[in-house]
Amino acid sequence: MNAPAQPAATAPARLDDLPLRPELVGEEPYGAPQLDVPYRLNVNENPYSPSAAVIADIAAAAATAATAANRYPDREARALRDDLARYLGHGLTADEVWAANGSNEVMLHVLGAFGGPGRSVLSFAPTYSMYPEYARDTHTTWLAAPRADDFTIDPDQAVAAIEQHRPDVVFVTSPNNPTGTAVALSTLELIIEAAPGVVVVDEAYYEFARAGTPSALELLPRYPRLAVTRTMSKAFAFAGGRLGYLAASPAFVDALRIVRLPYHLSAVTQAVARAALAHADELLARVADLRDARDDLAAWLAGRGFEVAESDANFILFGKFADRHAVWQGLLDHGVLIRETGPKEWLRVSAGTPEEMAAFKDALDRVTKEQGT
Ligand SMILES: *Cc1c(COP(=O)(O)O)cnc(C)c1O
Repeated sequence: MNAPAQPAATAPARLDDLPLRPELVGEEPYGAPQLDVPYRLNVNENPYSPSAAVIADIAAAAATAATAANRYPDREARALRDDLARYLGHGLTADEVWAANGSNEVMLHVLGAFGGPGRSVLSFAPTYSMYPEYARDTHTTWLAAPRADDFTIDPDQAVAAIEQHRPDVVFVTSPNNPTGTAVALSTLELIIEAAPGVVVVDEAYYEFARAGTPSALELLPRYPRLAVTRTMSKAFAFAGGRLGYLAASPAFVDALRIVRLPYHLSAVTQAVARAALAHADELLARVADLRDARDDLAAWLAGRGFEVAESDANFILFGKFADRHAVWQGLLDHGVLIRETGPKEWLRVSAGTPEEMAAFKDALDRVTKEQGT
């Protein structure tokens, strides 16, 4: 008798004992710390919870979905994509809209369809810390071209980087995370025209941009290889609902349909997202307050002598710190959780309610005094 290939386990396997893909060895699961502290300003959520009326409609939608829970959901999420198209405007139809469990999953679909082994995705760093992980998970080579010192994208350098690397996919985040920097449409056009493959403009924070900031949605009719992603997680105050979406040509959407898991969007997700969308005006009502909170905070931080990156999003990147971790920890000790992300001398704080902003300012003043920074 041959020896069994796998001896029976005598102890629970440790991760090190399992035949993990080599590039995943030593990797940690992504995540900003989820800590139970009084003031959470670390993941750019909208701090205003839904009203009783919105909660009631979401609950009713979930209950209706539950009556057919024995059936698979609509694989194509037609009704939801129809609602999203209407919400986006710009003459878009459901065929030009895609939806998934957060725009994180949308991005995974993009790299599943257009990235892969032997292919590459290029973005402009510092940028969203999740992109390299989607690249890794889809076996796509990750390339980061640098932004200028003020975190803007220099059009000539961007085009040069694209011509040098010939990436299959380009991600442009506008407004960018963690810097808050919006990208001009003229720069986007040069990037799209230089790119040999597809270009995705991640507009997760678009609703927070200053009035009159044009959306890359305007460029869609001219560029069939362009896609624009949005999310209900930030301005829309629906991070817990997990709904992200994309607008592009119908052919682009068809490509994503090939790689999605069957039934990737649950009936409950589709139903509650539609219920939330029906209350778009109310859910977005605090965006103006959050923009004001951001601008006030930027001015306050500048007044305290910090460097502040110009932001069109609902957060501020500020610095510089010789030891940013000590400042982050000091704030946490005062009950305020912000984010250690981006360039290593900087910290990011989300715009919040007046109470949250007061708590943050008070804590930062204390930490500054305690640490003499
Ligand atoms: C928060 C964020 C998203 C949204 O992620 P969801 O999966 O939709 O919650 C996408 N892109 C950027 C740059 C973000 O910061």
